[in-house]
Amino acid sequence: MTKQTVKDRVDERVYITRDTCRLCGSRDLTRVWSFGPTPLANSYLTPAEVGGNEPFAPLDVYYCGGCCLLQLRDVVNPDALFKHYFYVSSTSPSFVKHFEDYARILVKRFKLSGNDLVVDVGSNDGVLLKPLQAARVRILGIDPAENVVAEANAAGIHTLPEYFTPEVARRVRAEHGPAKVITANNVFAHTDGIDTFVDAVKELLVPDGVYVFEAQYLGDLIANNLFDIVYHEHVNYYHVTPLVSYFESRDMEVFDVERVPVHGGSIRVYVQGNGGKQKKTEALAEVLRAEEEQGLNTIEPYRQFAKRIEENKKKLRQIIDDIKAQGKRIAGFGAPAKATTLMYAFGITGDDIDFIVDDAPLKQGRVMPGTHVPIVPAERLYEDKVDYCLILAWNFAAPIMAAHADFVKKGGRFIIPIPEPRVIK
Ligand SMILES: [Zn+2]
Repeated sequence: MTKQTVKDRVDERVYITRDTCRLCGSRDLTRVWSFGPTPLANSYLTPAEVGGNEPFAPLDVYYCGGCCLLQLRDVVNPDALFKHYFYVSSTSPSFVKHFEDYARILVKRFKLSGNDLVVDVGSNDGVLLKPLQAARVRILGIDPAENVVAEANAAGIHTLPEYFTPEVARRVRAEHGPAKVITANNVFAHTDGIDTFVDAVKELLVPDGVYVFEAQYLGDLIANNLFDIVYHEHVNYYHVTPLVSYFESRDMEVFDVERVPVHGGSIRVYVQGNGGKQKKTEALAEVLRAEEEQGLNTIEPYRQFAKRIEENKKKLRQIIDDIKAQGKRIAGFGAPAKATTLMYAFGITGDDIDFIVDDAPLKQGRVMPGTHVPIVPAERLYEDKVDYCLILAWNFAAPIMAAHADFVKKGGRFIIPIPEPRVIK
């Protein structure tokens, strides 16, 4: 597909364009890189849907001169992104372990017991709430994805099919009492209406309660060239500095931050009301110092980053063109949301890769957004002999290569696109 036909398909009804920063309200927003119009990353189509009206929206990243937040201005209608969700957390054993550890930390640090309520926003299939419930804490999930919420409730994880708003917070408070802890993982970075979300947090928390959230970390994104974590759902690319000033402006305070290894590098941020009893940690001070040193509070590293993406695009293009020139075949491994950004940013189409294998049954039998490359079970790597396998789910490269050592034994080779494209010899 040529770039022009893609542009023709931008659908202005599916997104709005903000002209102010989501955290500080400044209009001093400078575009630092652009992936052009891309399809909605989680809109995996059935073969019958191909050729229909598939929405595209701009994917451009801006730096705020007011508070240094990196963000998208184009906001896709959340219903198009979140009502029917293809991402089920508990399908990945490493995520399950991550959330079990997370639950243990919350129980111990905040001394949670049977009467305490923990509300998880964007609770998905209950991957964090399950271990909390097992620790006999009262739990409640809130998530707009109707399909995933139905599954969670069937598994005994009480979950409301809602967006988190002050009105929903009041209703939860009236029915269940206030929450001692509110968590939101990979949600706060996906939220356009941050003020409304924080209003809801304040509505629901007990006076000395804490709000804890995880988000992919901008410091890791920049250090490791993780450009493909940019997609429409993910409207904010957080580092800690702008969050500290934002919560101050809302009469709250960030008191701790941890670096956690999920999704290529994330932060877990701890927030309380002003005057709360938690002490500010040295870890927080250290992260803020490191952000200063990395230059994250200036526009420069983002401009450099854009140049590195271009260089990596050329490198991967060269690798693929060399393979194709030998008449060999390439498959992709993994169809996470970021695969769509990676394919569009690097110009990878169905001419380059024949199919993508993915272990998630929800995605098998569908096709990738925009490029319409088919998604099939992993057995196809062996049945339909391919020579190379490009790992699109690069954050799982190690377990994927371990599980498919046979592919290499039979002469196959893996290609890893990030932080720098390379063929694993
Ligand atoms: Zn700002």
